[in-house]
Amino acid sequence: MYTTTTPARIDSSVRHLIESLAPGGQASYLDVRPEPGAAFDGCFSNVRAKSERDGGRMLCGWQLWEWPRVLVEAEFHAVWLSPGGQMEEITPKRHGETSVLFVPDERCGYEGKVVDNVRVPLDDDQLIHHFIRVSRAIVEASADGTRAGDRPKRIASLRRAQRFVGHSIHAGLREHDPCLCGSGSRYRRCHGCELERALG
Ligand SMILES: [Zn+2]
Repeated sequence: MYTTTTPARIDSSVRHLIESLAPGGQASYLDVRPEPGAAFDGCFSNVRAKSERDGGRMLCGWQLWEWPRVLVEAEFHAVWLSPGGQMEEITPKRHGETSVLFVPDERCGYEGKVVDNVRVPLDDDQLIHHFIRVSRAIVEASADGTRAGDRPKRIASLRRAQRFVGHSIHAGLREHDPCLCGSGSRYRRCHGCELERALG
């Protein structure tokens, strides 16, 4: 399920997200110029390899995404800073984006740990809040060493919920619409109620 893409413009919600992460940060659009051999989800190792080969260095920050009318999102990300001081996006994009919106944030270096995406809803609706909460819960469950035994089961059920909610939003449903499952009840009173309990 494909949801987010590069924001078409830096509107107030994108600007707000940037201010909350990197106050005073300057976002710029960078053309995607994938380095041969670079991996889709490996910006840090891609940039490290590139710097070892061609000089320059890693520049960490946030790549911004948007699911129009649903949410804006920031993903911890690295681009290559060329020896001449030019920011370059060398990591290919799974869904073929030809440009990215990136804001450098020198305060947070890459320490090899998973940094969850930061997501902000664009509408006050339970389906959107649930999508954001369930996405966060998946990352938390993945990192929760105390529940190693039932972790795969919990993650699988959270992923199912994430797909269900994602499909609902894609179908244009909101919390007061009939639930996607076909029960005839509103989402709020059907799967929404169930997920609310599961998320605790
Ligand atoms: Zn339902």
